[in-house]
Amino acid sequence: MARLPLFDSHAHMDSEYFDVDRNEVFKEIEENLSGMINPGCDRITSLKAMEFAANYPFVYAAVGWHPEEISRMVDEDLELLKKWCSNDKVVAIGEVGLDYYNDEDAPHSLQRQRFIQQIHIARETGLPLIVHDREAHGDILKILQQEARDLVGVFHCYSGSVEMAKELLKMGWYFGFGGSSTFTNAHKVRDVLSYVPEDRILFETDSPYLTPMPFRGKRNKPTYTELVAENAAKLRGTAASRLMEASTKNLKTLFFKIK
Ligand SMILES: [Zn+2]
Repeated sequence: MARLPLFDSHAHMDSEYFDVDRNEVFKEIEENLSGMINPGCDRITSLKAMEFAANYPFVYAAVGWHPEEISRMVDEDLELLKKWCSNDKVVAIGEVGLDYYNDEDAPHSLQRQRFIQQIHIARETGLPLIVHDREAHGDILKILQQEARDLVGVFHCYSGSVEMAKELLKMGWYFGFGGSSTFTNAHKVRDVLSYVPEDRILFETDSPYLTPMPFRGKRNKPTYTELVAENAAKLRGTAASRLMEASTKNLKTLFFKIK
């Protein structure tokens, strides 16, 4: 099969779910997709993302501390983060943001503080953001409006409303759509996917989680981005090839270090 003009803009190939067959999955990505971005969630996974990017020409890395890992982040990590950004294949700060759902050991105030600090590093280094937002729409939007007016990024696996999307569109942001947009009962995300202009759409899997239909419940993998894009094309009444090409163009505009 020929390679598709399609990137998985968000996949965690560092996950232990890929320990049994990681090399084969990478081979499958190389044969079927144009590339992928592996975001980091802490020190270890950011280093892993950079290691994959060094080993595979079609893999790019993002680096950062995920809100669920924030209680283990220390001040020195900010210096480390800044240093990593000079790596040619580090294309974004992420994934960073707020998670008010999985918040047992990450107080919301600490999450907000570390999110803002990482936004400042995005500004210093000139890189875009990959944002994780779970049940924290209001606070994220407020922080971006106050602290990141001059920055852009993508809301990975966007779960906000059409109203919030309108605000983000004005600010120049992008929207990542993944497996959840293929679930027929996911009315909210499907409404947004129908609404958002073609030049702001990215596709992703968030592998190994959130597997698209018809494989929901099984382990996810980056090549399933094709299923996400095909579903989106059907929903929007456009050709899948056209939408894939548009999403790749968008990805290279946002993540400008990817040529
Ligand atoms: Zn993720």
